[in-house]
Amino acid sequence: MPAKPLHSVVMTDDPSILILGAGPAGMAAAMELTRAGKKVTVVEKSTQVGGLAKTFSFQEPEGTYRTDIGPHRFFSKNQYLYDFIEDLLHEEWKQVPRLTRFCINGQFYLYPIRIRDVLRKIGIVRACAMMRDYAWERVRSWVAPHPLRSFEDYAVATFGRTLAEFNMLEYTEKIWGIPCADISIDWATQRIGGLSVVAAIRKALFPKRSGPKTLVDTFYYPAMGSGTIYEAIRNRIEAEGQEILLSSEPTVIRRSGNNVTGVEVTTPQGTRTFTPQAVVSSVPVPVLLGLFDPPPPPEVLEAASHLRFRSQVYLFLTVDKEQVMPDNWIYFPDKDIPFGRITEMKNFSTEMCPPGKTSLFIEFFCFEDEPLWSMSAEELSAQAIPVLERFGLLTQSEILSTRHFRLSHVYPLYDLDYLPRLHTVMQWLDGMGNFYAIGRPGRFRYTNQDHSLEMGILAAQSILTAKRLDIENVGKEKEYFERGYVRMKKE
Ligand SMILES: Cc1cc2nc3c(=O)[nH]c(=O)nc-3n(C[C@H](O)[C@H](O)[C@H](O)COP(=O)(O)OP(=O)(O)OC[C@H]3O[C@@H](n4cnc5c(N)ncnc54)[C@H](O)[C@@H]3O)c2cc1C
Repeated sequence: MPAKPLHSVVMTDDPSILILGAGPAGMAAAMELTRAGKKVTVVEKSTQVGGLAKTFSFQEPEGTYRTDIGPHRFFSKNQYLYDFIEDLLHEEWKQVPRLTRFCINGQFYLYPIRIRDVLRKIGIVRACAMMRDYAWERVRSWVAPHPLRSFEDYAVATFGRTLAEFNMLEYTEKIWGIPCADISIDWATQRIGGLSVVAAIRKALFPKRSGPKTLVDTFYYPAMGSGTIYEAIRNRIEAEGQEILLSSEPTVIRRSGNNVTGVEVTTPQGTRTFTPQAVVSSVPVPVLLGLFDPPPPPEVLEAASHLRFRSQVYLFLTVDKEQVMPDNWIYFPDKDIPFGRITEMKNFSTEMCPPGKTSLFIEFFCFEDEPLWSMSAEELSAQAIPVLERFGLLTQSEILSTRHFRLSHVYPLYDLDYLPRLHTVMQWLDGMGNFYAIGRPGRFRYTNQDHSLEMGILAAQSILTAKRLDIENVGKEKEYFERGYVRMKKE
């Protein structure tokens, strides 16, 4: 673990630790503290642990369907995390081959892109335009280098305008709901940093010699869904006598200076007051700051009020056929298609649906004041199913059931002004002696499971060692996220 002590932590008399939020970050903290013999209480707003990485289970006449919230492959450079999960899941954790594509103008392309595949399908005119624009950007960056501020600046400078427009700009705008020129370059460097056209061309020309052996198109996956990691933690820690309060949330966080002195929590059984030694929180930052009594300084509240999240609406279809597609998931960047991605859970693990059946998980992106947010399953189906029929993926008559659900605080929105605001907020929060902000919503960081787990583990280790470790810099190394490093099997 990258464990650099920052400063000492103030201890109080009450030995218990309160964990707010039972996503990967919160559950990892709970597991680590339980192993060390600490008393923890976990407070979770929803009815299930696992946060965005939970797995839903639905009973139908033909059997049980299970689904994650979209694709949830696991990959990490951190061996500690593989050991952490294997200790929980044992053999119910397998390596899955990855096939993902994106669909543009009715054509399906491999993702991450393969130059040969793209060149074969786009035609000579567009291929030449891609090469011309790429060459132009290389010359321009050499002759007249200019500062890159937005996602659009980065994508165009790195790939050339034609290639950037081809597979990056539209999908990004669909996710975020704002123009790529208004999205911070930080999103690009976190998510696609390290991607190189030259490397892709080299791979196309010399397929066997490219890349280190660990850069492979497979990922790890729990046989019964990503959420089983967090359900396993729940079972382990409850067996040790720890409490997980579901359908519960903090209403007031009392503080004296920069120390939390008490937390009031509403539970289905009534209000409870905790006076913990430490609080670990993955509650979304703007929500959290509204709970402090006395409130944070006005400039902190003002900065937090501008930190926005993008939300998602999901449509889940159970389907009366063996398989819809060979892919784990497919992206749909085109603006005239209302959703962004479809995932077939059976292609992660056959145990995710009854024999002979399958399911599709369809993701729509929106803000909560947009009409999409309040659409019914019928309305979403009316938008999605004709598109799926058009691509020959399924027919209306093959659909057995539809369900929909929605989640807020899914994607922290990195607009051009987010960083100084986030610094103001995190500096104040990280200055609290016995409070640890962790995870995707808790630090407003676009983490995957691995980095959220790591943040939770570091928070736990900070408490255990009474030395605040560097949670902020987890996962900040620039790396190519889309094709992660997968740990090689132990001999
Ligand atoms: C569509 C999609 C696809 C993804 N694909 C992948 C993938 O392939 N691989 C991967 O590794 N990661 C993936 N992720 C990311 C992964 O889900 C997150 O990184 C991870 O779940 C973040 O964990 P967390 O604990 O930081 O936050 P969360 O999972 O958001 O957990 C926060 C928890 O806090 C709870 N909470 C919120 N407010 C309160 C409150 N007021 N009181 C109490 N509890 C509260 C929430 O209900 C939630 O349980 C994906 C995410 C999405 C949305």
